Amino acid sequence: MSHYLPWQSSQWQQLSEQLQANRLPHALMLTGIKGIGKLHFAKAFAETTLCTNRQIDGCACGQCRSCLLVAAGSHPDLVTLMPEDDSKVIKIDQIRDFIDTMTLTSQYGGYKVVIIYPADTLNRNAANSLLKTLEEPPGQSLIVLVTDRPSHLPATIRSRCHQLAFHAPIHSEALSWLKNQPESIAQAETLLALASGGPLEALKLAENDVLSIRDSHFTGFREIADGIHEPAKLASDWLKNGIKQPLYWLSTWIMDIIRLKVVQNPPQLNNPDLRTNLQHFAEGLNLTGLYAFQEKITDTLKLADTQCNAQMLLEGLLIEWKRLQKN
Ligand SMILES: [Zn+2]
Repeated sequence: MSHYLPWQSSQWQQLSEQLQANRLPHALMLTGIKGIGKLHFAKAFAETTLCTNRQIDGCACGQCRSCLLVAAGSHPDLVTLMPEDDSKVIKIDQIRDFIDTMTLTSQYGGYKVVIIYPADTLNRNAANSLLKTLEEPPGQSLIVLVTDRPSHLPATIRSRCHQLAFHAPIHSEALSWLKNQPESIAQAETLLALASGGPLEALKLAENDVLSIRDSHFTGFREIADGIHEPAKLASDWLKNGIKQPLYWLSTWIMDIIRLKVVQNPPQLNNPDLRTNLQHFAEGLNLTGLYAFQEKITDTLKLADTQCNAQMLLEGLLIEWKRLQKN
């Protein structure tokens, strides 16, 4: 049985009361930064909506036939729409299929629930098709859109959903949640900072061993500055996993260096464990150059999805990073 996360109790209570009173909106939009458990909440609430033996606290029982089917991922009245296979978008056919399912009577006589995640990946046709359903929602249905980029959705869709905002838990709560995970997590503090405070994102970073990837990137970054690594060679090494990851790391380091440069003791860094190294860079570099470099990284990120030559883009940035040391 899924339970909502400790920092989601007010949102849970609000929806539970509406469900109890049979006043649940037809469409919900869960918003907030990445990695704070919006999808987790959506799934837990879907389970409770479908449960035939809801508990006094408004949570699913975890034992009725409906709960067992949800746990097995085979409840006929619960659909989750995500981009399929290698696609980056949710397509109109997926929306049409779910609309067909929504118009059928529910198999268990209760709600029919669909979760759309990430909702900002609906392509234009899919969004138009969904809009029609939002305007005339079928009987007992609940459509839950989950997104950390609500502004990427058409205003027409946003206005037809009841919006529920989620926030990252306070630092100590996030940290204690992370430390209580079954898999012990080393460097929880650093991971949480890299995840901008999103505990579930931090967990994902830990699972993907992101810190050791970052560390190996950082070694290259330092070696370019020290003149013991060639930009062309490093760019080609980094590109083995695509261009976005190295750009992301570059961006977090430069942002941190800028923070260290402008504030004596910045309370928040994306890479708190690299503070000493980054401080060293902050002392040697000038602010104008750093800002200009950060802007170049942002520009390059915009080009990353185009047909531009990735090797040339990244190499250009690394040459610029090397040049910056001499100013
Ligand atoms: Zn149940």
